[in-house]
Amino acid sequence: MISIETRFRCPCCGYKTLEAPAALGLCPVCWWEDDGQEDEDAFEVRLTVNGQLSLAEARLHYAACGAADPRFIPYVRKPVVSEI
Ligand SMILES: [Zn+2]
Repeated sequence: MISIETRFRCPCCGYKTLEAPAALGLCPVCWWEDDGQEDEDAFEVRLTVNGQLSLAEARLHYAACGAADPRFIPYVRKPVVSEI
């Protein structure tokens, strides 16, 4: 069950979906896994939890298809009011 207390903003989609920053939380809105990557190194491909996906690329995907990668489209959901 998802609580509505203060959450942290997902670096990919920008909605407040994460319980802690850089804690490997999986964002339910875009399916980005927050490994701490941020603006400064957004173009780096870390080859960690997000595989070949850089944050910059994931953001482009989210803008285009509503998920960090097109293969995650079946899993994502729309943000709820408390996450905006
Ligand atoms: Zn997200």
